[in-house]
Amino acid sequence: MLDCARKLGAKPMSPGKSIYFVTAQKRIAATVVLLMISSVAWAQTPKPRSGVARTAAHATRPKLVVMIVVDQMRADYVDKFRGQWSGGLKRLVNEGAWFRTAAYPYAATETCPGHSTISTGAFPMHHGMVANAWWDRDEQKMVTCTSDPKLTNIAYAGGTTKGGDSAWRMLLPAYAEELKFQSEGATRVVTFSLKARAALTMAGHKADATTWFDTSTGSWVTSAPYGPKPFIDAYVKQHPVSVDYGKTWSLSLPRSQYWYSEKPESASSVTGWSDTFPFPLRGKDGSAAPDESFYQQWATSPFADSYLTKLAENAVDSLNLGRTDGVDFLGISYSSTDYVGHTFGPRSWEIQDMLVRLDKDLGELFVHLDQKVGRGNYVVALSADHGVAPIPTEMHESGFDAGVLNMTELQDRMEQVLEPFNVGKTAIAKIAGNEVYFSQEIYDRLRHEPSAMKALLDATLTMPGVAEVFRAEELGGGFKTVSQTRTAAELSYFAGRSGDMYVLQQPYWLTDSGKESKHHTGTGHGTPYYYDQRVPILLMGFGIQHGEYFEPATPADIAPTLGALTGVTLATHDGRVLAEALQKRSVQ
Ligand SMILES: [Zn+2]
Repeated sequence: MLDCARKLGAKPMSPGKSIYFVTAQKRIAATVVLLMISSVAWAQTPKPRSGVARTAAHATRPKLVVMIVVDQMRADYVDKFRGQWSGGLKRLVNEGAWFRTAAYPYAATETCPGHSTISTGAFPMHHGMVANAWWDRDEQKMVTCTSDPKLTNIAYAGGTTKGGDSAWRMLLPAYAEELKFQSEGATRVVTFSLKARAALTMAGHKADATTWFDTSTGSWVTSAPYGPKPFIDAYVKQHPVSVDYGKTWSLSLPRSQYWYSEKPESASSVTGWSDTFPFPLRGKDGSAAPDESFYQQWATSPFADSYLTKLAENAVDSLNLGRTDGVDFLGISYSSTDYVGHTFGPRSWEIQDMLVRLDKDLGELFVHLDQKVGRGNYVVALSADHGVAPIPTEMHESGFDAGVLNMTELQDRMEQVLEPFNVGKTAIAKIAGNEVYFSQEIYDRLRHEPSAMKALLDATLTMPGVAEVFRAEELGGGFKTVSQTRTAAELSYFAGRSGDMYVLQQPYWLTDSGKESKHHTGTGHGTPYYYDQRVPILLMGFGIQHGEYFEPATPADIAPTLGALTGVTLATHDGRVLAEALQKRSVQ
């Protein structure tokens, strides 16, 4: 399967082709050449033709498609917290189409699968991004969904970074790539996020400018098929993240306007922070200059969202996005809500304040687009890559069955029960999330030894916190079941990348492989339960009919819907066109 992925994966843009074959010593030189080529392309950026005077009435396509993903945003945040908003999130609700029952139907509710689904209009069983990271059976190691051994990442503004990333493991083109390929006129594809797995999957296999953040070094980063671009380099040089060193994240609203109590039970912590507002961005205790802890604090604060917004506005201005003949694409994924949500949970003042600040940032972004592109000339689609579970300790103290399933303990239990059957030493190669990968040939042997398989399943199913176990052969053969959870696991299953077994925990339980799980703090996501699956879908602008919609919808519907607005056909789509939210025009 990975060979297949390799064939379908990213090939560099022609100017960058040589970068794949150069030695490490030549990479710096290649980067310089690339910067020079990029400078030429940048100098040739088309100038705006018609400016903001163009009106929607005369346009047949939007001038700009804006895809916004809020990393870890539960659908019920819109229901509960919209009274706290007055900016862009409020405008999306007040002017846009709001799909109130939208949810992912699959089990792998994680960042990489979610962004890939929004981007391609397909589910993990088709786009192949089954998790943020999986066990590579050929390489016998964990690989992240964007790790690319053929590439070396490039840091902007003289920064440092490591690794190499692209979307080569994503087996379908992104909507943005199809837009560029199928459109008349120049389409520019630009994406930003703190996370590589968000920025890259939104863009596809190559793009004009895709940029992410290395939290360990505080550098903005790209790789050869996606940059570097001088206008981003110049912006980052002029606006180093370290300018935010010494700032403080304080509450934005009067205390009476927040839901729940100020200090959630069993919140996790961030180095250098106490557990309540205000949160100073000063790195480790005693640190006097930006350090790695500062960059982690920054990424877990609204300052990172604001920076991404400014990067996006700068791209709109520098490239004249939405002001030339083509339909341009701007993707922004706001990662900080995820870091804050994992740490403080969905009932925290912190997550509410993040959304208040994001609402303000998005309000400013939309005003910027109104001025530069023209109100009604652009279409916005906002969604999230997954939701999140409540903090298990908080649930448990409310009287619910909730807890943490320790996968290391489960692995020990599985090994022990298999010992008398002599299937081989170290039967399990890796447990990653809910996926169990057996060592080579062991799983085949188990399939032919019913008594060993039964003993294994019995031992797994009697472990406290385990709800169900699905075997690979039950998931790969199409839909034969009415079980919602098994169907969800099937939609996430991709042979060769998924595990041999999928162990699902009970609702309100998390999985953890650490040794500290009995004292678990913070929370997580990644299950087929509704708190992880339900996310907002909000559409606004060109061609969108305002209203609240209760029809079934999934984030895979976003790409086909944008396709319908821009005349783009996707080869594979698990989603549908959200036709009920599109304005009906009389055809002339
Ligand atoms: Zn995420």
